Amino acid sequence: MEVAERVALAPLTTMGLGGPARFFVHARYDADVRAAWAWARARGVPLHVLGGGSNVVVDDRGIDGLVVHVDTRGIDWRETADAVEITVAAGEPWDDLVRCAVARDWAGLECMSGIPGRVGATPIQNVGAYGQEVSDTITAVRAIDRTTGDTVSLPPPECAFAYRDSRFKSGEPDRWIVLGVTYRLRPGGAPTLKYDELTKHLSARGSTRPTLGQVRESVIEIRRTKSMVLDAADPNRRSCGSFFTNPIVAPAHADKVATRAGVRGMPRWAQPDGTVKLSAAWLIERAGFTRGTRAGAVGLSSRHTLAIVCHDDARAADVAGFARHIRDTVADRLDVRLHPEPVLWGLSLES
Ligand SMILES: Cc1cc2nc3c(=O)[nH]c(=O)nc-3n(C[C@H](O)[C@H](O)[C@H](O)COP(=O)(O)OP(=O)(O)OC[C@H]3O[C@@H](n4cnc5c(N)ncnc54)[C@H](O)[C@@H]3O)c2cc1C
Repeated sequence: MEVAERVALAPLTTMGLGGPARFFVHARYDADVRAAWAWARARGVPLHVLGGGSNVVVDDRGIDGLVVHVDTRGIDWRETADAVEITVAAGEPWDDLVRCAVARDWAGLECMSGIPGRVGATPIQNVGAYGQEVSDTITAVRAIDRTTGDTVSLPPPECAFAYRDSRFKSGEPDRWIVLGVTYRLRPGGAPTLKYDELTKHLSARGSTRPTLGQVRESVIEIRRTKSMVLDAADPNRRSCGSFFTNPIVAPAHADKVATRAGVRGMPRWAQPDGTVKLSAAWLIERAGFTRGTRAGAVGLSSRHTLAIVCHDDARAADVAGFARHIRDTVADRLDVRLHPEPVLWGLSLES
């Protein structure tokens, strides 16, 4: 394991901003990850784990600690009577895995096509899209427990998966380094068709009983119209995807928000636990922000109100300032608080 110094992090993130890492390890093997953890622990240096950099915003001052860039590879699978259990190294690119699963006709990941990043980050915020979440298929997360150095295998009940959340993200954020994830997929299984926009898109193309491949294609097409796939030629490319999660509130609170918004038919989705999910994009628009709104070198995507995008000379402080302005305006006008989806390294939306 080699420890480099003053390594630029901006090129390793999709936002493309932020300062350097004081120390940096490019981990190709699990042993490198472990050695990085031990190195940081022995010196009392804070450790940050980086995957594909598609859900982090790095502070302009950089990271005064060790950043371990997880770039491990390897895929193993085991077939059982009605399933295939696929165990994947944390550094594998997520969308390569989805593409392979779809090509082999293994159902379970197809709606999450086109999401950037690496496998190791998928349990962190319980990645999801178009009616699927990774918690639907994860059977185990193998990780280093940073408090002891032990490698453990966590079954789903110990991961506390929730909407864009898990024990790894909000419960005990700095405790685990994910080394690999096991997903249980269904060979020859039908695609998941729970999401209105996706089923409409498929039926408009005559696919009433679509294959996994057709679902993947549709998802990627839809995502492309929203700049939600990485594309070097897209002016909205420098983002973290959605900047805010959809707020989940009590039914009475949702009624209050609808009244404040003056829209009885405000989009809202009842959740199994009795709470109500609201649309962050809708709330942002209702609070007066339109697609493409600019605030200097940052702004909203011209194709999706929920994505904050960076332009030339953008700084992390600009992103935080703009996000704070949106959050506070939505809170003032509609009485609902938005929470950021990406992980902020060294930054805060407070104050
Ligand atoms: C255009 C675009 C579209 C997107 N669409 C979606 C979407 O539809 N649904 C969705 O859920 N997300 C979406 N995202 C967000 C992002 O792609 C996912 O959250 C992805 O899983 C992040 O992976 P990453 O490897 O880039 O993680 P990073 O950005 O590198 O890290 C994110 C967080 O995970 C932690 N982490 C990463 N790897 C590990 C590891 N091995 N062990 C422990 N912690 C780790 C990091 O420390 C950090 O806290 C989108 C992002 C972009 C840019």
